[in-house]
Amino acid sequence: MGERFKIGMDLGGTKLEGVVLDPDGKEIFRKRVNTEIHLGYKALLERIRGLHEELARVIASTPHAIESAPGFTHTLGIGTPGAISARTGLLKNSNSTCLNGQPLHSDLQKILGRPLAVENDANCFAMAEGLMGAGRDRRVVFGVIMGTGCGGGIMIDGRVRTGLQRIGGEWGHMSIDPHGPVCYCGSRGCVETFVSGGGLQNRYFEKHGIRKAFPQIVAEYRSGDSSAAAFMSEFFDRFGRAIANLIAILDPDVIVLGGGLSEINELYTEGVEAVKKYIFSDSLETPILKNKLGDSAGVFGAALIGI
Ligand SMILES: [Zn+2]
Repeated sequence: MGERFKIGMDLGGTKLEGVVLDPDGKEIFRKRVNTEIHLGYKALLERIRGLHEELARVIASTPHAIESAPGFTHTLGIGTPGAISARTGLLKNSNSTCLNGQPLHSDLQKILGRPLAVENDANCFAMAEGLMGAGRDRRVVFGVIMGTGCGGGIMIDGRVRTGLQRIGGEWGHMSIDPHGPVCYCGSRGCVETFVSGGGLQNRYFEKHGIRKAFPQIVAEYRSGDSSAAAFMSEFFDRFGRAIANLIAILDPDVIVLGGGLSEINELYTEGVEAVKKYIFSDSLETPILKNKLGDSAGVFGAALIGI
């Protein structure tokens, strides 16, 4: 296993990224293409096939290819939004909706003619940050992605904990307010409706009747505007409650934050203070850290879960 190259691909809403790691885990090639998701599912499979072929060619052209490794020259893993249903084998919960209901895993096996692992993108993030990033050397890592939506993944002893329904780590859809805003999942007051880029912007719109992107909202808060301060203090409070809830279940060794909102530095001060307020413990020992791998966590994680 250790002698093989690794290919990881990260399928996002707008881009498909691929990486090749050499047998020592060093990145030797990376490429990003548009998903062209509007062309539909079949076309997307074709793009994945094309990128995989290109990445495999890079491996074939390296000098110490491959006499040593029997069978396939590399392992392959793909990270995707959503999850493969344990019941039907079809993809579910993806915000790239053309993927939902499709047998992505078996179609890819067919079209690529080889085995591969398909894993939720937040789980890939947790793997990458756990093995190579901010959570290195910790046994139980909770990875949080606060981007447009809010996802999460659990890594325990170097393996993803996907769970019986394959929704392990989906803290974004824990309700923290049954009277809160309606969520696309059908529930109300999910963490995602507050603690995500989309949630933050929607709550701001509700309050002020103006649409602003979250960096603008944060800039307003930093400028000392008192109504922005009240708005953001509510945001930190929701974050604190949601993180305290997940610590009460998993009590991980570290929590690593990713996605656009992880750039809000006050999360590591005021956000952490709010966690202390709600945690069921006399102290908060859990490090809550910013990711180290940035945008690369997705592809690295996909490479790490490959088979
Ligand atoms: Zn929800």
